[in-house]
Amino acid sequence: MVEENPAQSVINEAKRKQPSLTQHFMGVVTANDLSHSYLFSGVDGLGKLAVAKTIAMRLFCKNVQDGMPCGVCNECIRIAKDEHPDVVMVKPDGRSIKVDSIRYLKREFSKSAVEGNQKVFIIDDADTMTTSAANSLLKFIEEPNGQVNSFLLTDDYRKILPTIISRTQLIEFPKINEDDLIKYVTKKGLSKTSSQLILELTGNLASLDKMLEDGWFNKMKATVERWFNELVEDDYRAFTNVQTNFMPLVTGRFEQQMTLKMIYQVFKDVFDVKFKDSQPDSLGFGDQYTALKKMALKLSDEQLITIITSILGSTRKQDINVSFQNILEVITLNCLAVIEG
Ligand SMILES: [Zn+2]
Repeated sequence: MVEENPAQSVINEAKRKQPSLTQHFMGVVTANDLSHSYLFSGVDGLGKLAVAKTIAMRLFCKNVQDGMPCGVCNECIRIAKDEHPDVVMVKPDGRSIKVDSIRYLKREFSKSAVEGNQKVFIIDDADTMTTSAANSLLKFIEEPNGQVNSFLLTDDYRKILPTIISRTQLIEFPKINEDDLIKYVTKKGLSKTSSQLILELTGNLASLDKMLEDGWFNKMKATVERWFNELVEDDYRAFTNVQTNFMPLVTGRFEQQMTLKMIYQVFKDVFDVKFKDSQPDSLGFGDQYTALKKMALKLSDEQLITIITSILGSTRKQDINVSFQNILEVITLNCLAVIEG
C-alpha cells in the first residue's frame, strides 16, 4: 500500500474543508499581505489546523506551484510532521496551556532564526491558555522580532480573552456543507433544533456518531435542559441533579468535554437572547426559549457574564485530579449563588 504523503494530505484537507479560505490565504501570502496574528475560530473538524499548516507551508515551500505549496519538498514535509524548526506548535499540556509552554515558544523564537527570518507559531486550543500564559503571549504578539506570523486556533472565539482578540485578526470558519450534516443527523432521528445544537458542539463526523450512540446526545440534552430549568427556578435540586442524572452519563473524557460544551452553550444562548434578541431558530437550545428568556430577564448583564466566566474558568481549571462531579457541582453552586443574588 502506498502511504499518503503527510504534507499533501494536510493540503488536501485544507482544500476540501475550506476551499475559499485556503484560496484566499494563498493569495494573501502571494501579495505579501499576511497579518502578524490570526485567530481561527470554529468547531472541531472544520480544518483550522490544516489551513494554518498550509499557510505555513506556503511561506516556506521551495517549490510553490500555482500559488500553492508543493507538498513534496523537505520544508512542506517537515511542517506537516511538526518537525520544522521555524514552525512551532503549542498544544495544551494536560487540559491547559501553561505559561511554561509560552515561555518555551518565546525561547525558541529568540534564538536567531534557524534557517531564515520567517517564523510561524500555531497555538492549538488557544482558549485553554491560563491567564498567565495569555498575558505572557500578549507581550510577545506585541513585540515580534523579525517576520513572525501567529495562528491561534479555538473552537469558539468568545472563550478567548478580549485583550488577545483585539490584537489578532479574527477568522470565523464556515461550517462544512451544513445542509449535508443536518441531513445526516436528521436521518439519525434528531429534531431540527437538536440538529442545530449538535452542530454547535462539533462538525466532526466521528464525534457526531459517538454522541448519537445509544441515544447519548438526547439523554444529555434532556439532562442539561432539566438542570437549566431548575436553575431558572432557583431550585436546589439542580445540585443533586449532578450526581443522579449527569454523572451516570459521563463515562469518559469525551463525554465530559461535550457535557461542558452543552452547559456553556445554554448560557451562550441566554447571552444571545439578552444582547442580540436571538430567536429560537438560531439558538442551540431553541426549544427551551421560554426558560432562556426568563433567565435572560432575571440576570443582570454583570451576573450573566459572571456565570459564563465561571463556566469557562471551570473548563480551564479542569485537571485529571479534580473529579468531574466536583466541577459540575461548583458550576451549579456558582450559578445558584449568582442567580439568588
Ligand atoms: Zn514544498
